[in-house]
Amino acid sequence: MSVNKKVRVDDWDISVSSLTPWHQDALCVHLLSYRTYRIGTLEFTMRILITNDDGIRAPGLVALANVAKQFGEVKIVAPDRERSACGHAMTMRDPLRVSEFKWDGIEAYEVNGVPVDCVNVGLTVAWPDGCDLVLSGINNGPNLGFDITYSGTVAGAMEGTINGIRSIAMSMALFVSGAPIHYETGEKWLAENFEMLVSAPCKPLCFLNVNVPSIEFVELRGHRVTQMGQRVYQDRVEMRQDPWGRPYYWQGGVVVMDRDQPGTDVQAVTEGFVSITPVSLDWTDRELMDKLEHSMRKVDATS
Ligand code: MN
Repeated sequence: MSVNKKVRVDDWDISVSSLTPWHQDALCVHLLSYRTYRIGTLEFTMRILITNDDGIRAPGLVALANVAKQFGEVKIVAPDRERSACGHAMTMRDPLRVSEFKWDGIEAYEVNGVPVDCVNVGLTVAWPDGCDLVLSGINNGPNLGFDITYSGTVAGAMEGTINGIRSIAMSMALFVSGAPIHYETGEKWLAENFEMLVSAPCKPLCFLNVNVPSIEFVELRGHRVTQMGQRVYQDRVEMRQDPWGRPYYWQGGVVVMDRDQPGTDVQAVTEGFVSITPVSLDWTDRELMDKLEHSMRKVDATS
């Protein structure tokens, strides 16, 4: 993927497609320190865009920013209110309003939109010359298995990926409604593993989906690289009545997880491991392509 945005490093103008280290391994980009990267003789500070779907006031966003600011220059662009489960939606029929949000020492903007809007507005307003990393989260609740198709948190990382930027979605896997959510565990784990995550092998169209069990840090058993599991909901839609006796419907339902799917994100977090899933935006089922083509050929032959 080629992105024709220009960035300025010292007095050099370089296109992002040649600057984004994770897409240009051949350029020998080295992680020098927590804050500084080098391409050849050029050094630059990692530019980080943070978004979420829980809104700019969410505690998970504070935890994420606390870690990210130790590793680079952070700018926050997040929804002005909670937008969970908005998926990869974008706002097209309404104007997006952006206002600076008071944040302790970090440039921050709130947007009356969803995470996809925030990433794109962020690349226009906050990082007009592009950035090196998009972080989305830390979400209040898991994004495992099929959740990632509903998740606004994951959509933030997807949009960063589509823009050719290394992206990571991060969520706290809390399964008991109302139980304390251990953002401090996610924060500490990320601080210890940030360098590993951002320098891990990746490729265009791929991002990392990270889920941290919502338990005490000392109870974490480590991390696992996982594949998407299956997490389905039962009794999805509940019918209720309003005070006038009219029915209305509330979508939620009970989550049913098969914890025994080996190697999956679901199993990892239920066993106390941080789950790291590489996710590709190319949803094509290549195995099925051949079979489909074969069967379509047969249809052609008989018609
Ligand atoms: Mn959320």
